[in-house]
Amino acid sequence: MRKNIAAGNWKMNLDLDAGKILASEVINMTADEVSNDAEVILIPPFVHITSVKQLAGSAKNVFVGAQNCSDKASGAFTGEISVEMLKSAGVDYIVVGHSERREIYGEDDALLASKTKAVLEGGLKPIFCCGEKLESREAEQHFAVNKEQIEKGLFGLSKEEILKVVIAYEPVWAIGTGVTASSDQAQEMHAYIRGLIAEQYDQETADSISILYGGSVKPDNAQELFAQPDVDGGLVGGASLKSRDFVDIIKSF
Ligand code: PEP
Repeated sequence: MRKNIAAGNWKMNLDLDAGKILASEVINMTADEVSNDAEVILIPPFVHITSVKQLAGSAKNVFVGAQNCSDKASGAFTGEISVEMLKSAGVDYIVVGHSERREIYGEDDALLASKTKAVLEGGLKPIFCCGEKLESREAEQHFAVNKEQIEKGLFGLSKEEILKVVIAYEPVWAIGTGVTASSDQAQEMHAYIRGLIAEQYDQETADSISILYGGSVKPDNAQELFAQPDVDGGLVGGASLKSRDFVDIIKSF
């Protein structure tokens, strides 16, 4: 059975003290107020990971993620961070292919397939992001764009491997813009993505994979989005920087 997941991507925000305060607040409020079995993933900048992991300790259902990784194992790659390093710092999940990595840093499908493979070979779980830009949606190319990203990024994986992947559908036009996909738009794309996985692998595999929605998820829209049958939670940017908002989102399952 697939899991409900609320993942908070802090992006390049907060110094260490502010990050520790945010993580402590979310962990404490989650323990006190959230009674369901949703997984919470805190995804701070690399340099805060060890501290956030210490704070998370053995907190029930709270995991730590990284925003990116290298596809290389080790060596002369200045500025890069390997899966093994992240694993040794206590990371469970690694985001691969966020639209900001695709757009600003030019990460292409081949590199993202390689990173996804590296994460899995390191024993961690990728949160693989896909999503179309506004012009693609307006040209009604949004299904084709997501299909290509998923085929190129994920369909080289075995069934055992893809079962460990979390997919995040993040329409680029909804990220950080305050514009959210409607719950119908999210459901339509999530069902489409699940259908692609069923065609490539099988229905049981497709039904076991969590597909998160990302793009201006807030406390006032999370419940409606998460109520959709194929929306298994959210990858949350801006609202994950406020403990009250993020915990309210976690409580929306
Ligand atoms: C994101 O960073 O993945 C994201 C969805 O951001 P926001 O929630 O701010 O739109």
